[in-house]
Amino acid sequence: MPLRNRASNGDLAEALFSLAEMEGLGDRRIAYLKAGYTVFDAEGPAHKAVLDQAPPWLKPLLSQLMECSGPDALEAAAQRLSDGGRPRRRGTRENYLARIDVHTIIAEADPDLHPQRMRGAFHWHTTDSDGKAPLETMARACRRRGASWAVVTDHSRGLEVASGLDGEGMRLQRRRVDRWNQNHGDDLRLFQGLEVEILEDGTIDIPQAERRELDCVVAAVHRHFDPDRDQTERLLRAVSTPDVHCLAHPRARHFHNRPGLRARWERVFTVCAENDVAVEINGFPRRQDLDWDLARLASECGCIFILASDAHAPRHLEFDAYACAIASRAELAPSTILNTRRAEVFEDWLFVG
Ligand SMILES: [Zn+2]
Ligand SMILES: [Zn+2]
Repeated sequence: MPLRNRASNGDLAEALFSLAEMEGLGDRRIAYLKAGYTVFDAEGPAHKAVLDQAPPWLKPLLSQLMECSGPDALEAAAQRLSDGGRPRRRGTRENYLARIDVHTIIAEADPDLHPQRMRGAFHWHTTDSDGKAPLETMARACRRRGASWAVVTDHSRGLEVASGLDGEGMRLQRRRVDRWNQNHGDDLRLFQGLEVEILEDGTIDIPQAERRELDCVVAAVHRHFDPDRDQTERLLRAVSTPDVHCLAHPRARHFHNRPGLRARWERVFTVCAENDVAVEINGFPRRQDLDWDLARLASECGCIFILASDAHAPRHLEFDAYACAIASRAELAPSTILNTRRAEVFEDWLFVG
């Protein structure tokens, strides 16, 4: 007998987030949100984990939701449970993968897009800015995961909340990168990158002389999201700046929180391709930026890609799997993904390309 269809973790999580939004502020709203995140981040079918953690009043409601066979039935059940309320922020949760979806997509993906095939571990942070582990610990963790090269990308000083690196900090970190490469460069070649700020007018927060001291300049928006503003010109200025290698998390969206920047993306991606600026697919679960629709558009514009974990601790390095899953769903050619290249080839791209 076939197994009865059950809703996916993503659909179940969406129903729980919708219910949270239809509640006023208070314990019920928090319980729905907590259950939503538990389902969204669950390694396997979430049913047991979420029921175990739920308060007694929520358990029968969860059981009802879990009996639903798909997204339509779930939406109808959520409407009934909320007396016909309307969720407000669905647009902040579109085109995200629940954790279990990542495993399913990768299991069926082109083997060249599997995380273990990625030679380069790109975009991670250390205690030099807002990461939780020192440079050397992160580099060893990259090596253990099978990488043969890696790019550290702490924040620049422009992001004060992350206590970013100033010029002196950059030079101190450079010495440690050089030391790592002298001792362990045959196992893991380390490149010094920096995640620099795209300011409100599209300029970069560190001068060209400092950019030139770095191996890899990764430009990103972390402030001035301004949902009413078209951000095309700001992004074009950033990706046309000399010595910028990569546009990181291009939309700056955040799950259940921010919908992301508005821009004429075809234009932005075309200029990225013209300037040989790589477009990042950031796999940090709350970012997932680009999503697969925009990644497909970037590919049609001729872009090259770089997959990132945006790890702030060694255990986050596995978030590159989300980026691999997005690349697979966007049907990107592995040859357009820089992480698949050998260290020498990536180095040529950094310094010549
Ligand atoms: Zn960032
Ligand atoms: Zn980052």
